[in-house]
Amino acid sequence: MKSSARGRIFKIARYAIHDGPGIRTTVFMKGCPARCLWCCSPESQSFEAQIVWKEGLCSRCGRCVRQCPNGALSLDGRSVIVEARRCTICGECSSVCPGNAIGICGQDVTPLELLETASRDLPFWRRSGGGVTVSGGEALAQPLFLREFLELCRSRSIHTAIETCLCADRSAVAMISELADFIQFDIKAMSPVLHRRLTSVDNGRILQNASFLLKQNLAPLVRFPLVPGCNDDEGELNALGEFLAENGPGSALEILPYHRLGVGMYGALGREYALPDTPVPSKAEIDRAAAILGRYPINIIS
Ligand code: SF4
Ligand code: SF4
Repeated sequence: MKSSARGRIFKIARYAIHDGPGIRTTVFMKGCPARCLWCCSPESQSFEAQIVWKEGLCSRCGRCVRQCPNGALSLDGRSVIVEARRCTICGECSSVCPGNAIGICGQDVTPLELLETASRDLPFWRRSGGGVTVSGGEALAQPLFLREFLELCRSRSIHTAIETCLCADRSAVAMISELADFIQFDIKAMSPVLHRRLTSVDNGRILQNASFLLKQNLAPLVRFPLVPGCNDDEGELNALGEFLAENGPGSALEILPYHRLGVGMYGALGREYALPDTPVPSKAEIDRAAAILGRYPINIIS
């Protein structure tokens, strides 16, 4: 199969056990149209490759500053400052850093190159019933690449899963409904106003795509990130339950408790975290959400 489309990825995670059946190799695509306030991988959001500086790994040796051919870096004593408009993403700084503290986030690959890299895990997939999961960013935001990659996997009998927020064109959603073996998607809020406030995008298209998938008999997994003070009021939870009961009675819903694992990456990108005071939900709060959603004919996983 001749490969043409190139896709931009930013990470490959091996031995993943929460991204579909069995042991999986998860590919994270770069770029997402949404900006969720709690996003745990802010480096996934921009479609452009970026320089990332990790404060905790940096010894302030200054090698990167001296190496940069474009004068894009400076050291103010505490931090390496990146002047983004001067940076050409050449990677020179990263090549001399002794602590892997600075590097490029975003790499372009063909479907075949990606599959060859991922296929090192083939023995684990075979043994566990696993395969490859394409996540993001938004996996559906690079549909030509994704289509080729899924076709390539199918031609080699490799199981594929997709993680998506469904903020995508219907043609891309229809494509994964035909080519992916397993789909999991997020619903983050039901109220259009709230959804826009939390994610910066409208949820009309997302809910239409969700309804389309739920009615396809594909047994997708729906995931709901439970974020205290953001999307956990009773009206929101009831609206979610009603939507699933109407569009996919019996469908599986996983409650994903909010966590703060990605907070450090905001600093690495020179950004502020939008929810500095939001606590992780307690067991009682998770149980309460599950109890409200449990009023509806859906299969809740928490
Ligand atoms: S990627 Fe290249 S241009 Fe950008 S900061 Fe590093 S050395 Fe400088
Ligand atoms: S080369 Fe690496 S460790 Fe040295 S200042 Fe630059 S980022 Fe920090």
